[in-house]
Amino acid sequence: MLMWNAGKEAVADLVTASASAGKISDKQRADAPDAGIGRRAFMSAATAGMLTAWLPAFRVSPSSAQATCAPPPNFPSTIALYQEAYENWSQEIQISSLWTCAPQNPSEVLQVVEWARHNNYQVRPKGRMHNWSPLTVAASATCSTNVVLVDTTQYLTAYSIDATAMTVTAQTGITMEALLTALEQAGLGVTATPAPGDLTLGGVLAIDGHGTAVPATGEQKLAGHTYGSLSNLILSLTAVVWDAASGQYGLRTFQRTDPQCQAFLAHLGRAFIVEATLQVGLNQRLHCQSWFDIPATELFAPAGSSGRTFASYLDSAGRVEAIWFPFTTTPWLKVWSVSPSQPLFSREVTAPYNYPFSDSISQEMVDVVEQILSGDPSAATQLGPLQFDIVAAGLVFTVSFDLWGWSKNLLLYIKPTTLRVTANGYAVLMNRSNVQRALHEFVTFYQNRVAAYQANGDYPMNGPVEIRVTGLDNAGDIGLSDVGAGQLSALRPRPDHPEWDVAVWFDILTVPGTPTANQFYREIEQWLLTNYSGSYAMVRPEWSKGWGYTDTAAWSDTTMVSSMIPDAYRTGQPASDNWDTARTTLNQYDPYRVFASPLLDSLLP
Ligand SMILES: Cc1cc2nc3c(=O)[nH]c(=O)nc-3n(C[C@H](O)[C@H](O)[C@H](O)COP(=O)(O)OP(=O)(O)OC[C@H]3O[C@@H](n4cnc5c(N)ncnc54)[C@H](O)[C@@H]3O)c2cc1C
Repeated sequence: MLMWNAGKEAVADLVTASASAGKISDKQRADAPDAGIGRRAFMSAATAGMLTAWLPAFRVSPSSAQATCAPPPNFPSTIALYQEAYENWSQEIQISSLWTCAPQNPSEVLQVVEWARHNNYQVRPKGRMHNWSPLTVAASATCSTNVVLVDTTQYLTAYSIDATAMTVTAQTGITMEALLTALEQAGLGVTATPAPGDLTLGGVLAIDGHGTAVPATGEQKLAGHTYGSLSNLILSLTAVVWDAASGQYGLRTFQRTDPQCQAFLAHLGRAFIVEATLQVGLNQRLHCQSWFDIPATELFAPAGSSGRTFASYLDSAGRVEAIWFPFTTTPWLKVWSVSPSQPLFSREVTAPYNYPFSDSISQEMVDVVEQILSGDPSAATQLGPLQFDIVAAGLVFTVSFDLWGWSKNLLLYIKPTTLRVTANGYAVLMNRSNVQRALHEFVTFYQNRVAAYQANGDYPMNGPVEIRVTGLDNAGDIGLSDVGAGQLSALRPRPDHPEWDVAVWFDILTVPGTPTANQFYREIEQWLLTNYSGSYAMVRPEWSKGWGYTDTAAWSDTTMVSSMIPDAYRTGQPASDNWDTARTTLNQYDPYRVFASPLLDSLLP
């Protein structure tokens, strides 16, 4: 690991190199708040230990003196092609320059794909690069790798709304914030969505993006809404697919009623979707209350306990998130309820991101993270309480503990400037009546393991546990009967367990590079798989996050990747409508594996 001084020098190098290159776009500047860039660069310096090799390129043209690789041969001359850095949000993937292009419309995408087929290249759609799992490219890729990224965010952002049918048709490079803003203006919205707005629709649909929502007791679902993933809202989608008849790739629109559509609803990046039509519903006003004084022992008490349990909030409001910082005793609990009129004492909000204190990093926090990464992981015992104190004070000082407004303004609450952490992620399917039991079991195991590691002088987890609960992907939610759910969606129901009606989403966050983190993640994963099994529950990975852990790395346990995960989509599913069906469909429509990556080659060969 690089020591802090080395990191500081490298950070200085990075900032100087980037600035002197003069290639940072206005957008990139806007995304990098003054005080943030150095800190985030520090995180990466100290964690990845590879900053000396990390000199990001910003839109270097093939003919420029700064070009570091020969350009891909014969690339269509009418489509902008440039070298650009690829860096995912947690900065665990940093590739200083990859060939990237920005097609202006779907037919230019097709041109790129046909070019790739003829020239033995792969094409990887690139949204906002927020994914943790290396679905897009391997961390080891270089500009000599035969891959061209397609930046969908530049031009593929058009949309149209049919307010009468309550549908939106959007190109996949649009951000969720832009999409939800447009829907809000038309009086429309969704029940739940991922917390950041800075994600593309294409990226979110690829991994069955989710928020947190089940029906509150007595709640009547509005037409067009779902408690499942955003992929479950898809009515049709247009993908780039191989057409055997014409012997070339072309655009094809699949209706949700087409059985083959189920492979594309959440495809993990093994396809290229240019456009999707989603069913949405009337927008709702939400009331979001935060608590930070409920003891974890009460919130996660054994099933059947009285008091302020997680299950009690699910019943009263349906929409709950617990963020439990390590080495603290009272989680940050957010509870959203549907509330057409403004509750007394609540504050109306007219824009998203209303927890600014959790979207920035204080110097004190930087100092503690530095301490952790420079050889004192026990500083985790300070980081958790510090984060909690910032939240508790922030909720009070910004008067954000009781908010009310249109759904988008309460459902989007994370900015990319928040502390960059890595995360594991799982969806555990079960009957709703078992949620409290499942939480109590998880928390008990987690605390025991944290204590055991601590006794050994190890502190693998310095970020919070996050818990949310959603419904499953039932097509009936959007008025379609006899239609399946995404064959690769973590929220695909189990026909042999119709009583499993919810998924509990577990994530544990930690700063990348924290010693013993992967070993801890592996223990948690193995326990989840064993504990939530049989007729009680089942585990599926959260595609965008960490899973398949060995003691040293995520996405690396070959048994998990090649058999346990596929089995989680085979068991209980019809033989003609399961993991293998999806794999066959995706391979049929991309026989040249233009849309693949090393991880996808292992997972979906
Ligand atoms: C801080 C943070 C918070 C998050 N919170 C949530 C959350 O609350 N809920 C949740 O579900 N997720 C959450 N995520 C995960 C996020 O939803 C996924 O990582 C999502 O894929 C990111 O979208 P993106 O635009 O950045 O996609 P990218 O990271 O650029 O791409 C992700 C995958 O999608 C593929 N892809 C992108 N566009 C297309 C397309 N047009 N066609 C086909 N494939 C495409 C890419 O090739 C890649 O395989 C969070 C991530 C971060 C960093």
